[in-house]
Amino acid sequence: MSLHQATRTPADINLSGWYGILPPPKAHEVLRGRHEADWVIVGGGYAGLAAARRLSQLVPEDRIVVIDAQRIGWGAAGRNSGFMIDLPHELGGENYGGSHGHDRKRIRMNRAAIEFSSSAADEYGLQRFFIRAGKFHGAATDHGLAILREFENHLTGLAEPFEQLDAQQLKKITGTDFFIGGTFTPGTVMAQPAGFICGLAEGLSSRIRIFENSPVTSVQIGKLHIVKTAEGEISAPRLILTVNGHLESFGFFKKRLLHVFTYASMTRPLAKSEQATLGGELHWGLIPADPMGSTIRRIGDRIVVRNTFTYNSDMSTSEKQIKRIGAAHDRSFRARFPMLGEMPMEFRWGGHLCLSLNSAPAFGEVDERVFVAGCCNGLGTVQGTLYGMLTADLAVGSDEPMVAEALQEQTPARLYPEPLMSIGAPLKLWAMQRRAGREL
Ligand SMILES: Cc1cc2nc3c(=O)[nH]c(=O)nc-3n(C[C@H](O)[C@H](O)[C@H](O)COP(=O)(O)OP(=O)(O)OC[C@H]3O[C@@H](n4cnc5c(N)ncnc54)[C@H](O)[C@@H]3O)c2cc1C
Repeated sequence: MSLHQATRTPADINLSGWYGILPPPKAHEVLRGRHEADWVIVGGGYAGLAAARRLSQLVPEDRIVVIDAQRIGWGAAGRNSGFMIDLPHELGGENYGGSHGHDRKRIRMNRAAIEFSSSAADEYGLQRFFIRAGKFHGAATDHGLAILREFENHLTGLAEPFEQLDAQQLKKITGTDFFIGGTFTPGTVMAQPAGFICGLAEGLSSRIRIFENSPVTSVQIGKLHIVKTAEGEISAPRLILTVNGHLESFGFFKKRLLHVFTYASMTRPLAKSEQATLGGELHWGLIPADPMGSTIRRIGDRIVVRNTFTYNSDMSTSEKQIKRIGAAHDRSFRARFPMLGEMPMEFRWGGHLCLSLNSAPAFGEVDERVFVAGCCNGLGTVQGTLYGMLTADLAVGSDEPMVAEALQEQTPARLYPEPLMSIGAPLKLWAMQRRAGREL
């Protein structure tokens, strides 16, 4: 028997635009009193809800419970930019790619996760939040263009389709002449992340019990695991932890997880006249050529800017930090859309990413009948879904072949000792973001 007290519980601040523009999502109950279940899943993001859905397919008679510290969709799952990318997407690299063998496997597994989400979108009527639109990469500098050409060579080597775009073609789509060239890849799904995740939870709630606003304060591992919150507890023989970086708060993968935040701002609705001035298409998503640059999305009458990574080892950000980075968003916005003048941002927010030094996920059985899926290295909409669904397969002992592949992958490497991390990680991020130059 072992007790894992949570040293921290999540408290994301500021309403994200994705959540803010939705009609109020369905409320789930707060955990109160004692409950029993066959499975308890802690964390209701991509990984947790994928694990729950997969379990409901594999063991439909079992009692499955999901519990989240915050409202469903309030955490990173509803705060991200919604690029569900099928291709390799190594944020720490120079051109998003890795080795060919590794990338082929990654693409196959990412696509399996996207299909799993797609079937959920069909089942629960969430197609409006899950659009197979593909993604653009835009270069604003010669360095960026060189990165894209390298990326295209890499895609050619993988026999993956792409389209090369010049400045004129990108202007027709985005309305701006900021980009000097780009690449389109067709396999990315563009999600409304909060709409998708709240809709997924609502769809699952007819078969699965979901508790929200219920931070888990301790987990006692034993014959029956006991998961406790301030007002209640659940006992179950099997436990799945899908709390992403907060795995460390429960004492798992200590000194192996990098807690990085990234930030976004969403405009107020553009007036019809502003939309006419801007031109371009109504819906598109663009990733910078340099992984450290700005991601831009247009969603009808609004535009979303995401940039800046900060190392926050205490797993939290502050209003001051969000405000400071908001000024960087405004600069990036003005550089791309000078024709729109001073555009007020209606929403500004930040969110927690969990990375590892070797881009490896946290996956597997960490104690008897205790399974984990987390640390999705900035591509959690897809890889959270992937490892979430595979934890269910692993835990049930199904014959899904991707489980063996996932178990053969590396685990998160040990971080450098202090004070190297607290000094070195911010410096490295600063240098990488500086390298992005005009792409930021
Ligand atoms: C601004 C931004 C942009 C991003 N853009 C993209 C993108 O375009 N594409 C992409 O793939 N990824 C993107 N990401 C990353 C993506 O959001 C994450 O990788 C993804 O959410 C991880 O999914 P998850 O289910 O593993 O973890 P999370 O979504 O973090 O879910 C974990 C859940 O666990 C809960 N939890 C933690 N501790 C406890 C506890 N003690 N008790 C109960 N519940 C607990 C949390 O409240 C949370 O809801 C972005 C992130 C941010 C912040």
